[in-house]
Amino acid sequence: MSTSQTKIIKVGVVGVGHLGRHHARNLSSLKGVKLVGIFDTDKAKAQEIAKIYHTNSFESLEQLLSHTDAVTVVTPTKTHYQVAEQALRAGCDVLVEKPITATLKEADGLIHIAEKFGRILQVGHIERFNGAIQAIQDLIDQPLFIECHRLAPYNPRGTDVPVILDLAIHDLDIVLGFVHSPIRAIGAVGAPIISKSADIGNIRIEFENGCVANITVSRVSAKATRKIRFFQKNCYFSVDLLNKTVDVFRKKVDIDLLTRTDKSGYTEVINDGSGGSLLEKIVDYQRIIADQTEPLRAELASFIECIQMNRTPLVSGREGRRALSAAYRIIKIIRENPIFS
Ligand code: NAD
Repeated sequence: MSTSQTKIIKVGVVGVGHLGRHHARNLSSLKGVKLVGIFDTDKAKAQEIAKIYHTNSFESLEQLLSHTDAVTVVTPTKTHYQVAEQALRAGCDVLVEKPITATLKEADGLIHIAEKFGRILQVGHIERFNGAIQAIQDLIDQPLFIECHRLAPYNPRGTDVPVILDLAIHDLDIVLGFVHSPIRAIGAVGAPIISKSADIGNIRIEFENGCVANITVSRVSAKATRKIRFFQKNCYFSVDLLNKTVDVFRKKVDIDLLTRTDKSGYTEVINDGSGGSLLEKIVDYQRIIADQTEPLRAELASFIECIQMNRTPLVSGREGRRALSAAYRIIKIIRENPIFS
């Protein structure tokens, strides 16, 4: 579709709290979008944000839906189903924030309604749009081992749910997106530190194809870290999601070609006179500085493009459900095996 033919999509934002206002900010300046308005049960908040982004604040969800082609749902998780369902039934395409819904039953319901009404249902697993994850998308095909660290300083926001739903669900979605194999087994431990539910957790997922993923999360850390390391045959990727960089290490030569072992079993490095460390001779190193675009902006732009091109979203309702299902399995394991009594 050429730019001149691109349909302008009329979009609304439902819920303009902590995150929703950033949806409004991005949508107000994205190409191919008209931000037609905002609805929030907090009327004053809706008016304040509508004023900043030169758009309308609507009195009801119904009113907003009658003016839009699509909405983003950025309300508390327990309301996702009710708001998104109403929007889909009104004929709108929907981007619902993560986690898709509060329960798996609700997730199934939304997926069913979106299919029935032929609407797009995208879930806000924002890290998939992080430039660093986009940069490795075509480089990783058969990961053997994945190590995720997502550590955040304490913030009471979001602590009404276990850290698994709050933070680990991002890594679960990424891992499940890269490993194309059913889960064979899950082990997990977690504990509350400041909140009433788990603030720290460690998860080990074994897949039927042999891949193992280890996820460590904390929301009581002194310093923020968001890193994922992928190991596959002959290469290793160290992905920094905060700085949006990827360090790639590829094995270029077999160690046997660089060493010799005598009859007694003693091994020494062959001096080829070229200088440089043994590691440099074995491994090629490359740093990728990934696209630094704000992931939320990339996510919203992709949602709009899916509507314009009638394309399946990168993170569909089914993928949102898949991550939620894994998260609930883990929460159950943690509850059944408390490490603090
Ligand atoms: P918030 O409490 O700051 O904001 C929610 C807003 O929704 C409030 O302004 C509230 O008045 C409004 N609201 C409540 N019920 C409503 C309804 N039925 N209709 C319209 N408006 C309603 O919450 P938040 O931190 O912005 O989180 C919102 C959602 O975004 C949650 O589902 C959360 O899990 C998700 N989230 C995702 C990420 C991410 O990384 N993708 C990060 C933060 C939050």
